[in-house]
Amino acid sequence: MTAPLDVLVVGAGPTGLALAAQLRAYGSRFRIVDRSLDRVRESRALAIQPRTLEALAGFGVTEELVARGNPAMRLRMHLPGRVVTLPLFDIGLTDTAYPFLLFLSQAETEAVLSEHLATRDVTIERGAELVRLEVKESSVVCRLRDGDGSQEAVETRYVVGCDGAHSTVRAQTGIGFEGYAYPQTFLLADLEVDGLEPGAVHTYLSRAGMLFFFPLGSPAGWRMLAMRPPDTPELEVELPLLQKIADRYTDDRLTLRDPAWMTDFRLHNRGAASYRSGPCFLAGDAAHIHSPAGAQGMNTGIQDALNLGWKLALVCRGDASEELLGTYEAERAPVGRSVLRFTDRAFSIGTSSNPLIRFGRTKLAPRLAPLALRPPGLRGRLFRTVSELGIHYRRSPASTAGSRPPRSGPRTGDRLPDLPRGLQARTAAPGWHLLLSGPPPLWPDERLAPVLAGQADLVAVHRLDGQSPWPGVVHGLVRPDGYLGYVAQGADLDGLRAYLDRWLPTGRH
Ligand SMILES: Cc1cc2nc3c(=O)[nH]c(=O)nc-3n(C[C@H](O)[C@H](O)[C@H](O)COP(=O)(O)OP(=O)(O)OC[C@H]3O[C@@H](n4cnc5c(N)ncnc54)[C@H](O)[C@@H]3O)c2cc1C
Repeated sequence: MTAPLDVLVVGAGPTGLALAAQLRAYGSRFRIVDRSLDRVRESRALAIQPRTLEALAGFGVTEELVARGNPAMRLRMHLPGRVVTLPLFDIGLTDTAYPFLLFLSQAETEAVLSEHLATRDVTIERGAELVRLEVKESSVVCRLRDGDGSQEAVETRYVVGCDGAHSTVRAQTGIGFEGYAYPQTFLLADLEVDGLEPGAVHTYLSRAGMLFFFPLGSPAGWRMLAMRPPDTPELEVELPLLQKIADRYTDDRLTLRDPAWMTDFRLHNRGAASYRSGPCFLAGDAAHIHSPAGAQGMNTGIQDALNLGWKLALVCRGDASEELLGTYEAERAPVGRSVLRFTDRAFSIGTSSNPLIRFGRTKLAPRLAPLALRPPGLRGRLFRTVSELGIHYRRSPASTAGSRPPRSGPRTGDRLPDLPRGLQARTAAPGWHLLLSGPPPLWPDERLAPVLAGQADLVAVHRLDGQSPWPGVVHGLVRPDGYLGYVAQGADLDGLRAYLDRWLPTGRH
């Protein structure tokens, strides 16, 4: 048996790759294995949300993703006789460097993450399948099988199942995956389309359902998504069938050609009963699967990983208490449940055959949506939900408000905004970041030294001096994943010290 690892990452999809990138940044002893011999070559998830772009920026990969992708700013709703254009984003949003949805195929996203890992000397062990795991007193023994059938036993402190919808880790730990399958079948294709305006998402609404075209770029110009019409159940997913569907929705105005990928699939809405069983964790599709409405799936998985990785790393290094690991489920399970609810509602509106919903879809929505979205406040709130910028952990046990929380600016549990611009880059290095707002003479080293005793190498100190998201004298502690664990007004640091004593107690005093 090999020497015990800190973490075994099972699965090298987007969730496992993001987790590996974070574990590598913290110097953890880990391995990442995947049973498939090659990474995904199909487009699958086609959009990266602003919060994911922010969260990946610390690894230096976001610029490359943006360079390869295709930001779309408009939604064009095609109705009989007219086209309604809606802004897809609140362009006025000032607190993110990425106020757009980035269209990029999952294959490219995985390629960028894999290349990043390669430059950090991380090997993705392909052709290695987890077949069994056994939880011992202080470790987990995992059996890996390779392509020729030989097996290896790997001992590790923690296992993370990033192994997708049919997760072996989930099955081996007996965690339930309750939910349901939708009755409809969907058709999906990456192909070229003549007759579509570039740089926009196009949707065609009808009583029968919806047809979408998303600007993809690679491996083809467009992603087509449609519900399979009931009168075509036996037909193969080939270009003539797709052209027939497009003709029905668009009155023969589009020509489809050069398909790179065509498939049909059923959708599910399921969530894991728990995100953890002892030393085994679930993340990404292993924990939640749902419809692609709103492009949340891959993004939620990557953010699961980035919530968990630093916690595992710090606990394994002895820099944080085990209690920190309990906050993973407390923080991410509510996010997963809300994604399941949100995507289910959006899916139902898009596909229902209920006459009232059909009427709303084809007659009311196109008329009311532009009016409803006009107030910038409402547009901003909608954008924050879909972009995942609005995710917060205010109710997490690891979020503690000081006795005098500031009256404006980000609160405990919120994501640190990128305002003033550059604040996120300043706090992107691995570790915690203490932000000190107000005149620098208020924050002499002598005042900070006893508070950070024993943890000075884990907490970077930033005197913001006017470049602060809060007015006045405030101190805030940013977690390694960019969320605020503690925020208080004034220069009394007793509350901060109590917070550090609770969550990073090892080595103090
Ligand atoms: C046809 C299709 C279209 C999609 N379209 C969209 C979309 O438009 N928008 C969107 O957001 N999402 C979409 N998705 C979903 C999206 O692809 C997933 O949400 C995303 O891939 C989840 O990433 P993951 O890393 O959690 O899991 P996965 O990408 O499923 O990765 C799991 C990995 O684990 C490996 N693995 C599994 N079992 C084992 C084992 N026992 N041992 C070792 N390795 C194992 C697998 O080989 C795989 O590489 C689509 C998915 C499909 C299939």
